[in-house]
Amino acid sequence: MQLIDGKSLAHTIHQTVIADVATLKQNKNIVPGLAVIIVGDDPASHAYVSMKEKACEKVGFYSIVHKMPITISQEEIIQTIEMMNQNPRIDGILVQLPLPKQIETEKILEVIDPHKDVDGFHAYNVGCLVTGLESFVACTPLGVMKMFEAYDINLQGKDVCVVGASNIVGKPMASLLLNANATVTITHIHTKDLKSHTLRADIVVVGVGKPNLITADMIKDDAIVIDIGINKLPNGKLVGDVDFENVAPKCSYITPVPGGVGPMTIAMLLANTLKSAKKRK
Ligand code: NAD
Repeated sequence: MQLIDGKSLAHTIHQTVIADVATLKQNKNIVPGLAVIIVGDDPASHAYVSMKEKACEKVGFYSIVHKMPITISQEEIIQTIEMMNQNPRIDGILVQLPLPKQIETEKILEVIDPHKDVDGFHAYNVGCLVTGLESFVACTPLGVMKMFEAYDINLQGKDVCVVGASNIVGKPMASLLLNANATVTITHIHTKDLKSHTLRADIVVVGVGKPNLITADMIKDDAIVIDIGINKLPNGKLVGDVDFENVAPKCSYITPVPGGVGPMTIAMLLANTLKSAKKRK
């Protein structure tokens, strides 16, 4: 079994971004800029935003965080996004999800200029992804694809089971895998017999948010398992969706949590913002 080391791969990507930012600054006086909008007090969301802010600082990006109270109106969020759309220093706009219940998430995401949509959630970018056109791709599934690439894992013709079908994780993951010529099964909460699908798969990619959802009896020998889930146990420990201890010995490759997909998500956010800065300027 080989661990897929997301932390170290992300570190390598950070170094490339740092070098690119220095060159952009020196040759064209360009500093990539990211705006983050966060609404409410959810501690996990604030922790993610703070990690993104620190990452921006580390690689030399300009960044702004708009912290908004939970009582904010949809119109006020839209106005802030429109301001960021117009701001020439900003190349990427990210709205931290989930948003409070009174806010219509889809409406908010559609206000972001698709050319600054570094999270890849705008319908324009989702459409481009599905049709195989160049687009911004959601950072988490993009990070998983970079892992496959870095470890020379060929996807063509592989049976891949994606567990979880959200707009931000499972669906874009499935599109990317399909674009890479894998045979993809997407499963979700209403799937009748999850095990029958995971057991057939050469590769299982899981992003659900339930500790120990994937157990050793659900995985075939030498399978590759990618764990996107992040769950905080009552004792404070961070775990994924896979029963790592018992699943890992059966796998050819597996990602740990923490230190797997998580760091790659942030690395891809930086890469997407840099890409936007290079394109726009
Ligand atoms: P979500 O709640 O929007 O979607 C969960 C999906 O899982 C849904 O499609 C649902 O149908 C499916 N599901 C629920 N129970 C299931 C079951 N028993 N069997 C099969 N499918 C089931 O969540 P999300 O935003 O997609 O996030 C999923 C997980 O990924 C969470 O743990 C989240 O923290 C994590 N996540 C990690 C990163 C990262 O950087 N590593 C990024 C985003 C999300």
